Amino acid sequence: MNNRAPANKRYQPTEYEHAANCATHALWIIPSIMGGVLLYFLSNDQWEETSAWLYGAGLSSLFTISTAFHIITWKKSHLRSVEHCFHMCDRIVIYFFIAASYTPWLTLRELGPWAAHMRWVVWVMASGGTTYVFFFHERYKVIELVCYTAMGVFPALVVLSMTDRAGLYELLVGGGCYVLGMVFFKSDGVVPFAHAIWHLFVAMGAGIHYYAIWKYLYTPVNQQTSTAR
Ligand SMILES: [Zn+2]
Repeated sequence: MNNRAPANKRYQPTEYEHAANCATHALWIIPSIMGGVLLYFLSNDQWEETSAWLYGAGLSSLFTISTAFHIITWKKSHLRSVEHCFHMCDRIVIYFFIAASYTPWLTLRELGPWAAHMRWVVWVMASGGTTYVFFFHERYKVIELVCYTAMGVFPALVVLSMTDRAGLYELLVGGGCYVLGMVFFKSDGVVPFAHAIWHLFVAMGAGIHYYAIWKYLYTPVNQQTSTAR
């Protein structure tokens, strides 16, 4: 483990940490693509297909872009701008990943009339996050964390209003993984392999959420109980 980075500088991982950062997300690229495809084939209507597409795309691009970014920083690209660009993409994809993770719940579950607007509001929030990254990337880390937390929590309040509450437990446990992981996300240079541990928490949270989506929104038993959209 190397020393903590000074404020507004990025932590420089050791060779082993670089390798762990790449491996802990690269491992999930293929399973996440397969997972998305599986949901697509389990779909019974156009809404389920669209949700499977958006969710599968968000899930697999999270792991793909994160892996690409970590490989590029490891191999010390000669072009600093390339590294910078990938770091921005790595941050942007998180916003879209959060929006994509909520999409199946917001689209396939029956929600109250005002809550249904959250379907598109999450994508507006993700676009807002993207704009923020474009202008203020890495400048105000606290605001960044507040943005991610807001994006993670607001749609959850809507999802909590679902009439059918099956899957809520898994959603909370998965969300808890992300929150716990954030402790490590902020612990570079304090805990060895902190960033790789953060990746593992993300993979665990995403895995639990995938399981819940597959089980409660895409398996036939539950589809019978879902009402007209
Ligand atoms: Zn990472």
